Amino acid sequence: MINIENYNDENIFAKILRNEIPSEKVYENDHVYAFNDINPQAKIHVLIIPKANYCSFSDFTENANPTEQANFYKSIKEIAKKLELKDGFRLTTNIGKNGGQEVPHFHFHLLCGKNIL
Ligand code: AMP
Repeated sequence: MINIENYNDENIFAKILRNEIPSEKVYENDHVYAFNDINPQAKIHVLIIPKANYCSFSDFTENANPTEQANFYKSIKEIAKKLELKDGFRLTTNIGKNGGQEVPHFHFHLLCGKNIL
């Protein structure tokens, strides 16, 4: 069962951040990394993660300072601009077991394409 109470730095996104496993980079700054989902659910499916260790959206919103949070959300806007998503996109974040979260490192899914439900 997923544990989002204590950060486990052996999770797959922590390994991606340490370059221990490969990823397809879409965007990066000092605090944020974005890469293509390995199992895309839409034409564009990007995962956006903070480089700092937060287990979930709940952990991030409770424990990241306001500047860190603002910079994270601004980076999403920059990613949308870089990808030229002028006609819109979807952002989702799954939280914990009942939210369908599989990887215990906070992330947003950015989805865009004709066939998203
Ligand atoms: P969640 O269920 O919200 O935790 O989403 C985890 C997402 O991570 C899923 O959409 C997976 O397809 C994706 N994923 C898992 N492993 C990798 C990987 N090595 N590279 C890119 N995406 C991955």
